[in-house]
Amino acid sequence: MKKTSNGQENVWPTDPGSVRHVLSLSGGKDSAALAVYLRDRVPNMEYIFHDTGKELPDTYQYLERLEGYLGQRIIRTTHGTTFDHLLRMKGGMLPSSHRRWCTDLMKLKPFEQFIGDDFCINYVGIRADEERVGYISHKPNIRAVFPFREDGIDYPGVQRILEDSGLGMPPYTEWGRTRSGCFFCFYQQKIEWVRLKQHYPEFFEEAKAYEKPNSINGNVFYWCGNEPLAELERPERMAEIEENWRKNQERLAKRQINITLAQTFGGLEVEPTRRDGCLLCQL
Ligand code: SF4
Repeated sequence: MKKTSNGQENVWPTDPGSVRHVLSLSGGKDSAALAVYLRDRVPNMEYIFHDTGKELPDTYQYLERLEGYLGQRIIRTTHGTTFDHLLRMKGGMLPSSHRRWCTDLMKLKPFEQFIGDDFCINYVGIRADEERVGYISHKPNIRAVFPFREDGIDYPGVQRILEDSGLGMPPYTEWGRTRSGCFFCFYQQKIEWVRLKQHYPEFFEEAKAYEKPNSINGNVFYWCGNEPLAELERPERMAEIEENWRKNQERLAKRQINITLAQTFGGLEVEPTRRDGCLLCQL
């Protein structure tokens, strides 16, 4: 029998009233749509957001609008664990897909601390049309459930939920970004860096300033694999990235027959069924 961290046996309670219901919002469309979908179905839902302090203003605005729709405050779980503070503790070694301390320390740990040893159902917004894997807690007192998968809700379904509620898609999708999370997230595609530079040059500059020798071994890590942002921002390089992206989208669109009109004419990218990133940041 697995035990919770305080040594108690993990016997799922028979009294449903003693189980907490928690939905982590990332600022992304899927978790927002799930909150809308469950608002009247799950009473006593606790909505939470693990704020890294490095989100785009669009994300903060979207969460505020969502609070209005839900009629409830979204609880911020991160207190004092800001990215810059943690980066200093890590000697300036930027996180990457191989050194993903950011998700651990700024998303997963705050989530588990927020739950403690309580029994909890964690609602996760993975859609029916995606094969997504990622960070979820495996603590024995936390059970993940996937309502969109269970109810067959796919990408067009999520769009419908958001449109019908009046909330709409997150504002950053209007300028072609597909993900919530930190503006410098190492999971973003090169085209998203180009758009960040075009739309929020000040955040691009801030991201670039992080690419400097770390205090542990003096190496410089780049957000974008081995391409420094100072290279990526050259006009001819940005034009090349845009052209490659356009060709790739055409190829994908030909392969994917199930593209909705909104995707085709609304300028949204064709979403791959499997996306890199982490559930807690970008769902
Ligand atoms: S959004 Fe990206 S950089 Fe930010 S915490 Fe998540 S994985 Fe790390």
